[in-house]
Amino acid sequence: MTKRLLLLFACATVLNAQAQKISASKAAAIKDIEGRTSELTTISDKIWAAEEIAFQETISADLLANYAEANGFTVERGVAGIPTAFIATYGSGSPVIGILGEFDALPGLSQNTVPYKSPLHDGKPGHGCGHNLFGTASLGAAVAVKDLMAQGKLKGTIKFFGTPAEEKFFGKIWMAKAGLFDDLDACLDWHPGAETQTAVQSGLALVDFTVEFFGQAAHASGDPWNGRSASDALELYAHGINAYREHIKPTVRIHYHIQDGGQVVNVVPDYSRIWVRVRDDKREGMNEVYQRVRAMAEGAAILANVDYKINLVSGIYEVLVNRSGGAVIQKNLELLGPITYTAEETDYAKKIQEATGKPQIGLNSKIEPMEETLEHPGGGSTDVGDVSWVVPVARLTVATAPDGTPWHSWAVVACGGMSIGHKGMIHAAKALSMSAIDLFEDPKKVEAMKKEFKERKGDHVYTPMIEGPPPIGKE
Ligand SMILES: [Zn+2]
Repeated sequence: MTKRLLLLFACATVLNAQAQKISASKAAAIKDIEGRTSELTTISDKIWAAEEIAFQETISADLLANYAEANGFTVERGVAGIPTAFIATYGSGSPVIGILGEFDALPGLSQNTVPYKSPLHDGKPGHGCGHNLFGTASLGAAVAVKDLMAQGKLKGTIKFFGTPAEEKFFGKIWMAKAGLFDDLDACLDWHPGAETQTAVQSGLALVDFTVEFFGQAAHASGDPWNGRSASDALELYAHGINAYREHIKPTVRIHYHIQDGGQVVNVVPDYSRIWVRVRDDKREGMNEVYQRVRAMAEGAAILANVDYKINLVSGIYEVLVNRSGGAVIQKNLELLGPITYTAEETDYAKKIQEATGKPQIGLNSKIEPMEETLEHPGGGSTDVGDVSWVVPVARLTVATAPDGTPWHSWAVVACGGMSIGHKGMIHAAKALSMSAIDLFEDPKKVEAMKKEFKERKGDHVYTPMIEGPPPIGKE
């Protein structure tokens, strides 16, 4: 054989081996999802255009819930006291496999589908975390699994969870508190990203609270001695936090947002409010800092001679990693291979990289080996953390934006409304459905996930860090 023929033969052998590794049921799911590309893209684009923020995602939740219903799922809407939370179920008996889907946007990030900053609706929200793709891909995967069940090729129950308000308030906590994940054997989750990989790093635990200061209003110039300034207290409090920042561990993050610092310059403000967030890679460390930052509020109130009130808004767990589930996902990512992009998409990606000051290297969708799980992962937080302490959760990230893209930015919104995002979404749907198929077909894989879950969790009993009902309609 000539060298060229040898090479062709080698390639054909590899391709054949690849094709053989994809089972008939997985191949059917892939074909199913490809056949639904236009439907799924339409849903995703509608959610993208609806730009709905936490607990206000009525159009987005309806789009997903209606699609699930039209495809034969039984849909329970308004679960856990949240109008936009829902569960779509198909099948019966075990195993019971869940797939999580988010769909909320971020305030102020509205953006057109162009590779430079250009708001679609000035000051309005935008999908800066790609949740339009997230919810749609997850549901697409659930529907492909359901189609196999309907044909008698898989046995058990598939549940899609429509989980609102991930960007603020964290809807999954109330869903977990209501016990909605309790009957799952295992759960799958993905997130849009700048690369494609099995997610085996935890996230940071966090606690959200507001501090309100109550003083006495007076004329700022006429009789300021009659006033007690709530905004003085707020400034002193923020100063205390900033000084404390020098003495916290590198794993800790403290953020604050001044929500109300008084209204006008000629009134001594009698009211102020600050939103504070403390994070650490373990709940214990976070709690220590949280108690200290709470105590500072009293100090600030004493200094300014005002009253104060602390309101716990929400708090989430760090993610309990599941490497056994990760291994299932990794295999399927490798079977799928990387996403391919057109010259126009690469050019678009490079323009985004140019606009955001990144090296113009285009998109990265190659599959890396599964990472080691780090003790101190850094990064963000997710309410998937709470779910991961109730049931084993396996996760992945799929590229829906160029390498190095600043997250929670206009660039993510832009990509999420065009073909780069759409391709990532379809890829994620395939990887999720293939991983779900593995869990339905091989009880040993579910058992391995459960065993690891028990080992990592130890004797911890999950207790949600929230008080009261979900803050629907609150700012
Ligand atoms: Zn997100």
